[in-house]
Amino acid sequence: MNAQPNSERRRGWCPGVRRPMATGDGLLVRLHPLSGRLSADQARVIAEAARQHGNGHLDITARGNLQIRGVSEETYPALLALLEREGLVEPEGGGPNRLTAVSPLAGLDPLDQGDPLALARAIEENAWHLDGLPAKFFVAVDGGGSMPLDAMGADLHLVARGDAVAFGRATTEGLQWIGSSDPARAPEAALSILAGFAALRLSGGTGARRLRDLEPDLADELAAPAALAPVTPPQNRPAAPRAGRFATAGKEAILLALPFGRCRSAQLVEAAAWSERFGCGEIRLSFTRGLLLPGIAEEQLPLLMEQAAGAGFITEADDPRLALIACPGKPDCASGLTPAPADALRIAETCGDSLAQGMFVHVSGCPKGCAHPGKADLTLVGRADGGYDVVPHGSTRDVTSLALSLDKIMLSPSTRL
Ligand code: SF4
Repeated sequence: MNAQPNSERRRGWCPGVRRPMATGDGLLVRLHPLSGRLSADQARVIAEAARQHGNGHLDITARGNLQIRGVSEETYPALLALLEREGLVEPEGGGPNRLTAVSPLAGLDPLDQGDPLALARAIEENAWHLDGLPAKFFVAVDGGGSMPLDAMGADLHLVARGDAVAFGRATTEGLQWIGSSDPARAPEAALSILAGFAALRLSGGTGARRLRDLEPDLADELAAPAALAPVTPPQNRPAAPRAGRFATAGKEAILLALPFGRCRSAQLVEAAAWSERFGCGEIRLSFTRGLLLPGIAEEQLPLLMEQAAGAGFITEADDPRLALIACPGKPDCASGLTPAPADALRIAETCGDSLAQGMFVHVSGCPKGCAHPGKADLTLVGRADGGYDVVPHGSTRDVTSLALSLDKIMLSPSTRL
């Protein structure tokens, strides 16, 4: 096993099945299915593996991957062997476990202007052999439709626009549109940029692990051989919905969100059964931290949504739980000082009006801030006394002098909850 040693809790580590990561609740094993797709049978195998070899909890990540939590040193070898048998293990090597991310609606979205699945596959095939790409590097391949990938934080963003593909590069200031290409040339142009970045790193020309950290002149040098045409920046689209129904060709798709992206193995088993009973037997992992079930007949939707809501899924985009993010916290995480998910649910139940006005709250079981390294409108950091340090407009790394119990936080005017 190549688990992450404590001494190597370094920036840039990206766990996989072969590279489990030590966390407060045991080893974390992350699966990277291509295009985020699972058959119902695969979902059941993973759910059973999580129950048998982990603590029964899974997470859907913000890149549309699936991670099994609470695996022990003793159970990991059997889990690895099982996932190898099922073809669910990433290739050997230290590079990205999966190079591309697509919308869960890819191939179904009537608003898409290109074929993101074909483009993503071509990039994977062309670039899988590249040495020198850092583990966290990835390309967002966006069909230009209902679920924009702009906020995913990819290194390179490709967006289909009519008869062209726009190329955007991540910078510390946000996305910078660097050119466009004919769709047929887009895989080759993307490979040119990826190969250039890998070569630059291998030659010692940069130590940057992400494109956004590359000096602007080096980034321009990388783009030149791709021979991109001038680009008109794609229009801004509303942020991707995180739950609800989508009309697709002749059928519906339903996006089921999970509170804080956490899924119990029993929920995954239920989703597999629904995908066979109501849909086409497929589950797609969404970067919005939910599961998309395609191929649903319209008349079956009410029953499916009722059953999903009863099983703890979020079925409506205005659900207040979607305004909160929480880590596993106490007792699932050994470092947890507070029961972050349970406290976040109390906030959702009690303060729905504030959350409905667009407030984004991060509840963290300790100062590590695993669930969300960035800022939130309100960040609550678990304390050893069971209360929280309260950080308005900041992150878990910011210093604050305000510490309150959860009850006081929900009543205090200073928190605006
Ligand atoms: S932030 Fe949450 S998950 Fe991370 S170590 Fe702290 S309690 Fe555990």
